[in-house]
Amino acid sequence: MKSFQSLIRQSALSLMATLCLVFSVLMYLGSDALLRRFVDGRLLGLAGTLAKIIEQHPDFLERSGKDFVLAAEAGQTENTQHELQEVAHSLLVFSPDGRLVWKGPETVTHHTVYDHSVFERARGGNTVYETLEAADGTPTRHLFLPISRQGQVQYILHADASLLLYQKTLKALLLLLSAGAATILFVAWVGSARLARKVLTPIEVLSTNAETMCGANLRKRLTLDSPYQEFRRLTQSFNSVMDRFQRSAEGQRRFVDHAAHEMQTPLTVLQGNLEVTLRKDRTSEEYREALISNLAQVERLITLARSLLTLAKFTGDKPPVHLAPLALEPLLHELVDELTILANDRRITLSLKSESTPLVLGDAQWLKQALINLLDNALRYTPSGGAVTICLQTREEGTDVVVEDTGHGIEAEHLPHLFERFYRTDWARSKESGGTGLGLPIVKEIAEAHGGSISVTSQVNVGSVFTLHLPMPSPHMTPA
Ligand code: ADP
Repeated sequence: MKSFQSLIRQSALSLMATLCLVFSVLMYLGSDALLRRFVDGRLLGLAGTLAKIIEQHPDFLERSGKDFVLAAEAGQTENTQHELQEVAHSLLVFSPDGRLVWKGPETVTHHTVYDHSVFERARGGNTVYETLEAADGTPTRHLFLPISRQGQVQYILHADASLLLYQKTLKALLLLLSAGAATILFVAWVGSARLARKVLTPIEVLSTNAETMCGANLRKRLTLDSPYQEFRRLTQSFNSVMDRFQRSAEGQRRFVDHAAHEMQTPLTVLQGNLEVTLRKDRTSEEYREALISNLAQVERLITLARSLLTLAKFTGDKPPVHLAPLALEPLLHELVDELTILANDRRITLSLKSESTPLVLGDAQWLKQALINLLDNALRYTPSGGAVTICLQTREEGTDVVVEDTGHGIEAEHLPHLFERFYRTDWARSKESGGTGLGLPIVKEIAEAHGGSISVTSQVNVGSVFTLHLPMPSPHMTPA
């Protein structure tokens, strides 16, 4: 596995190496060009001066002879003459056919082999520069300057200068650049190691901290004393994720505790019944009674298990509803028909008030389940002689199904908790109505899976009103 530290170091090193290389190449090429221009410029200056003298004094070459002292004729000072000698190693004047007609002071004629084409180009009136090797191997810069009179090339002035100093300067520069690059790369390597350590230390601390957080202790949080806001933010984000995780884990634990507790009661009753029944021989009538009493506990367990399974289906990312255009009125009629027998048994009036409503996007099976839960509660918590009414209403924002009863009602302090899992009012518990406290949470899940909501208003001894709100199908809403 690659380490981030080595990535930082390698990146810093390769960046600096590239910068050094680019800088060195540019510096070297630039210096090379500048030095060359400097040598060429000085050669041309000197040759130009001599060419002017020859042009101004046409008899100059004949008068001066081959060892003519340039400065004296040109009225130059002795210093200037030295300077000129420094610039050019040799000064020669040739006739266009290549014959040497004049030789400058201190000039030693040597046998450098000039390219024939060089003379040709100079004869054609071009100023020609050439870099050639002298007999002793020294690189030398040559200038061939045509001197014309009346449009005719009369002489070709040749001046040359040694490039030894130029080469030494470039070599020294190369050495300097290499040493500079090596120093920079070393500093980059050491510096990037320090930087990487500084950057990664907080991450190391966070990792070590996180490793010590074990599943059992979800209360522990990361602590990091870092002045950098990025690491503070990382710590805060991690801790807030842990907060959510802890809340969710505690919720799950509470849920499991509740579920186990709810199961324990019927199971204990079941066990007690069976033990008592088996203690002695019984008549078949007594066995029958015991079995009937146990059947009620088994039914309770089945209801609980069913509700738990239903809730589990809604726990995932995708609720199990399949939305399709749905007419609610027939569904409510069907429900009222099914529950009328139960309502009659309890001597409760069950009625439906509906106005014509538009289609909703809904899952018939799950909506039916939600309404059964609401109606089952209404029938269960309403005494004989009471009434349960279902109203279907169209609102601006959607459709409401209202289940209203004239039952016991719910105390105000219970209303905010009514849709929590396993929440039951003390009154409902004391009544031993056989509920599980999961009916309303299931209604809430179903309503939310439809993009809707469930709300309640209630008054003790007057009754309760549960409203299942389903949103207006939006034009973008497509059936699942
Ligand atoms: P349960 O199975 O106990 O009915 P629910 O989740 O359906 O579980 O309801 C939670 C609690 O809300 C009930 O225990 C009861 O106290 C209260 N409740 C629900 N519906 C009504 C109602 N129509 N009238 C009075 N109390 C109700």
